[in-house]
Amino acid sequence: MKLISLVIPCYNEREGLSTLLDRLDRVVMELRKQINVEVILVDDHSTDGSNLAIRELCRERDYLRFIRLSRNSGSQVAVIAGMKYAKGDSAVFLAADLQDPPELIAQMIAKWNEGYDVIWAVRERREGVSKTSVFFSNMFYRLLNGMTEIRFPKTGADFALLDKKVVLGLVSSAGSKPSLGALISWLGFKQTEIPYVKEARKFGKSKWTLRKKLNAFADAFVGFSYLPMRFMSLIGFVAAALGFIYAIVVAVLRFAVGNPIEGWASLMVVILIIGGLQMLMLGVLGEYLWRNLEESRKRPLFLIEDQEGIES
Ligand code: UDP
Ligand code: MG
Repeated sequence: MKLISLVIPCYNEREGLSTLLDRLDRVVMELRKQINVEVILVDDHSTDGSNLAIRELCRERDYLRFIRLSRNSGSQVAVIAGMKYAKGDSAVFLAADLQDPPELIAQMIAKWNEGYDVIWAVRERREGVSKTSVFFSNMFYRLLNGMTEIRFPKTGADFALLDKKVVLGLVSSAGSKPSLGALISWLGFKQTEIPYVKEARKFGKSKWTLRKKLNAFADAFVGFSYLPMRFMSLIGFVAAALGFIYAIVVAVLRFAVGNPIEGWASLMVVILIIGGLQMLMLGVLGEYLWRNLEESRKRPLFLIEDQEGIES
């Protein structure tokens, strides 16, 4: 029989662990009729004692393994860490808060058996989320799709099944600031989608703060698009052309009409606008440069502080 690995990142999810494991017990039992299952819980350096609780749970269940990262690295890195140690012929990642129903995995496996390598679970509806955050997240994916060379699932990448060769590709091309969904889309292979309803969070609060979301957005963007830099050249070109035309106008007025244009105000406006644009462009360059530096340092993406059932 084949083996499937479920990789579940957890960050301060202790209060929900027992609900999660109850649900997993049932799903694993059902799946085991057709495939062997292992579950890897990746503790993203929780501070609520999750790791001790998980250790305890590992003792009671033969399918459960766990690693704890040495610092909070975000769920994308946690997923990649889990994938690195997954032994399955395929692997699924999903959230610990049961927003992504593990029952769907059976359908994903069916698609995998048909020969697909990446099966995205695409949320067709989200429960318990405000209209504004749905709006912003849709905008995020539209921007990514419009301005990068990759085709990203329209509604995000929280839940997917990957064939072993995709897992290997993912782990080896993660880099220092991985953007999980974008990377998987970029890898290629035979990809497909199945729809699902993203339920409201069963317990606790969302661990994806606004800061983390903005960082993830910049990572995906810089990681897969050169358009901002193209834009800079374009703006520079337009500004230079306008300046040149204006210089001719000024010269003509001075010599033909003998009427020099006066004005401290107009000069200030031009200086401020050009200065602002330059700062903005330096900032954009900085985003790329900074990630480049990070990449060239070649620091490990994550370190493991503790583990159970993982062979290194
Ligand atoms: N998560 C993580 N590290 C983080 C933030 C989140 O491992 O720094 C995990 C979290 O425990 C959950 C999953 O990533 O299992 C998705 O996060 P969450 O449900 O908080 O995000 P949302 O569903 O609100 O996008
Ligand atoms: Mg969630």
